[in-house]
Amino acid sequence: LTERLETAFKNLKGEAKINELNIANTVKDIRRALIDADVNYKIAKEFTDKVKDKAIGEKVLNAISPGQLMVKIVQDELTDLMGGTEASFDISGNPAIILIAGLQGSGKTTFSGKLANYLKTQKGKSPLLVAADIYRPAAIDQLTVLAEQIGVDIYSERENKDAVSIAQNAIKEAKSKNKNVIIIDTAGRLAIDEAMMTEVANIKSAVNPSEILFVVDSMTGQDAVNTAKAFNDRLDFSGVVLTKLDGDTRGGAALSIKYTVNKPIKFVSSGEKMETLDVFYPDRMAQRILGMGDIATLVEKAQAQFDEEQAKKLEKKIRKNQFDFQDFLDQLQQIKKMGNLKDLMGMIPGVGKAIKDVDISDDAFKGVEAIIQSMTPEERGNPDLIDQKRKVRIAKGCGKDIADVNAFMKQFDQMRQMMKMMNKMPMGFGGKMPGM
Ligand code: GDP
Ligand code: MG
Repeated sequence: LTERLETAFKNLKGEAKINELNIANTVKDIRRALIDADVNYKIAKEFTDKVKDKAIGEKVLNAISPGQLMVKIVQDELTDLMGGTEASFDISGNPAIILIAGLQGSGKTTFSGKLANYLKTQKGKSPLLVAADIYRPAAIDQLTVLAEQIGVDIYSERENKDAVSIAQNAIKEAKSKNKNVIIIDTAGRLAIDEAMMTEVANIKSAVNPSEILFVVDSMTGQDAVNTAKAFNDRLDFSGVVLTKLDGDTRGGAALSIKYTVNKPIKFVSSGEKMETLDVFYPDRMAQRILGMGDIATLVEKAQAQFDEEQAKKLEKKIRKNQFDFQDFLDQLQQIKKMGNLKDLMGMIPGVGKAIKDVDISDDAFKGVEAIIQSMTPEERGNPDLIDQKRKVRIAKGCGKDIADVNAFMKQFDQMRQMMKMMNKMPMGFGGKMPGM
């Protein structure tokens, strides 16, 4: 029986394929949503082309509607693109050296504080913050305030105008004070410039960091991609930090950056509080981007449209007195998708109270489903084909008594008679079938 059921399910699933037209429209909507979420056009196109290829022909899994499958494909692809599983973070050195780079205002200093706090409270490390921004005395003050706030030591040299030697001296300091992580906060400029790049590159070659984190403001949208590329060309950084995700944020930057420089996003920052640092989870970001562009809703709409087409087909069949077992089974499954039988009946006015204490189980459906699934496709499409011999075989196939099969056949026949009658009525078939 299980084997038979499986074959039956397989046939059903085949029919529930997302069709090509459906996909083309949905994919277009997804692309638009991604672009709205600040994903670069070219990347959005490449991405949706891939989704399209995957969706076409992919079979619907057990009890998953085509729309849900589409959302799943999009989400899986997004997750994949953003790095699959959580990226590693190397703080094994003693001291481990972490270099922070990025444009001015991107959130480097704030992030340095957050990272120090995270490593101290979550990883049991003893961090040393290093102020290597030699251009603005206020930058040293800012880091000092943060360090005090989280109870972490800071290293700075107000008179030293050489960031490289400050970083080198900080390592000596860390060793003498038993600090096992050094976080070097560097200076940024408002735009990419050669002096800034040279300075950071020099610090890199002098201290050989185990992690170079590129900090980028997620609100800068398309610019974020260009900045990431420039920094990566020069520094070959090990990871990205996406900040200000708490704002009116464009999650799309995550996707574009990952796609362009192919470096993992390691942390996200969403707030100015020292506690709001998060490890980056690609699947969560995928969900966020999906939600942002309301892609799930778009796909649901496509799915509703798909259902509507099915309903129209069914109505036509009823009009022509061609309603068959397969249609019946499809309807049953539609009803099941909407919820359990008791809840559904409860929605009918006046019924809710009456059935409050009545035990209505969905098992009533199961018997009927099993009987239909035990039929061959020909039998499902042509109820008149079923004679005594076939009834015996069907009953055997689903483990029911022949009396059960007979009872169901009779009910089904009555239903068809009723449909015929309604078709003959002057106002036509005005009623609604369940699930339509
Ligand atoms: P830096 O120039 O790269 O060191 O950037 P700062 O760390 O000084 O941050 C620039 C501004 O952005 C400051 O006003 C921060 O308070 C703010 N900021 C930094 N990170 C975040 C964040 O995740 N969310 C929000 N809302 N603001 C942030
Ligand atoms: Mg700063």
